[in-house]
Amino acid sequence: MHQLSGVLLCTEHEELLVSSHAPSSPSMLEDLHDATAASGLEPPESAALTERERHLALDIARRCQGLFTSASSKWVHLFAHPVELYRRAAVELGYDLGTRRLNAKEILHDFCEFYGAAFLSKLGIIISSRYRQPLELLNRRLDHPLIHVLMQRLLEQRAEETNTDLQFTRKQIGPIRCPNPYAAHPEDFRIENVARKKSPDGSAYLVANCTCGYGFTFRRTDDRDPAIPIVQSRVRFGETFEREARRLYCNTPSVPFVAKMMDVSIHLARRLIRGQKSKRENKRDPDPTRIAKLRAEWKASKSAAASKALWRNDRAWMLEQKKEEKAAPRKASRGNLEEDATIANEIRAAAAVLLSTMPPRRITNHAVCRQLGRTKTLLNKLPRLPLSRAEMSKVTESLAEWNARRNATGIDAPFPGD
Ligand SMILES: [Zn+2]
Repeated sequence: MHQLSGVLLCTEHEELLVSSHAPSSPSMLEDLHDATAASGLEPPESAALTERERHLALDIARRCQGLFTSASSKWVHLFAHPVELYRRAAVELGYDLGTRRLNAKEILHDFCEFYGAAFLSKLGIIISSRYRQPLELLNRRLDHPLIHVLMQRLLEQRAEETNTDLQFTRKQIGPIRCPNPYAAHPEDFRIENVARKKSPDGSAYLVANCTCGYGFTFRRTDDRDPAIPIVQSRVRFGETFEREARRLYCNTPSVPFVAKMMDVSIHLARRLIRGQKSKRENKRDPDPTRIAKLRAEWKASKSAAASKALWRNDRAWMLEQKKEEKAAPRKASRGNLEEDATIANEIRAAAAVLLSTMPPRRITNHAVCRQLGRTKTLLNKLPRLPLSRAEMSKVTESLAEWNARRNATGIDAPFPGD
């Protein structure tokens, strides 16, 4: 353990290590040095540490040790490479340029500034204008354990300063187990429906809704097992809770007893026995008739209000609709067809009026719009209105057509070349 580059202190005795100061070269993979060989070197004078450096060095040494003992860490995740977690964390911390691009320069700058060239040199890292190790790590061109540790420490420091929950960033990645004790989920069961929400104070949290009917909010998971969510508040209970409450109540018809056995309030126990939903549950899980109404409304008019309500309450169905919409070529809805026919008729009538206007004017898109009292937005709508589009191109005149009609009337246009 003492051989790992970057470990300046013994994690047990918090003593400065004298001879383990092996240089960290920008080479690939674990850069371990032989202790005996390193002991032959003179201990570097610079290894005297300031109080802050000592504090940092101890933390870094412990983290390095953690790498060997495979200690759990927020950077160890079943589904993602640590570097992917760093990148996500960096985005969360504001080191992003647009989508998916990292502001690499700023990360490098903060890395050097946070640790300081003096301290880094004590770790065997020499900062020069060509120094790029943190960036190479983020681009997966370098896999040095010390740089991993330093990157983790930096990101965590930033998170603390900015009150950002990196635990939470990680949670976006992996599915979680269902903590419902009354649902007999298999061992490998994971909740798929986890959504990110923002609380009124701006902090983010997650809402999980399991197929067993249990729903809850959480912000973090167990440090030992990232698949176990630490439930913050329970939103819905579902059938399994109600069944258990009734089973207990059947054996012992006492609400306080049921409450005690299930570790819930008496109020909630009574509700579960009766199978009543709370206001919050109803809000989160609106009654099927309302959903059906919203679906019908959305299908008929694609109204924004219905769409918003459905995205909130019936997300799976909306996703399905979007999928179908994408798969099938866009079919004109009934509302659109009616609107299209009406507008086509209006265009025809407007063109007739324009044709009989004296002195004659050329019939153009804009002239028709003006005649209809509609703005040019109608023209933007035309691509979606096949009947109107056809009518418009039928009634408008090319320059040649217009000249022919003007000559036929025998009257000169008031403005030549109009
Ligand atoms: Zn469940």
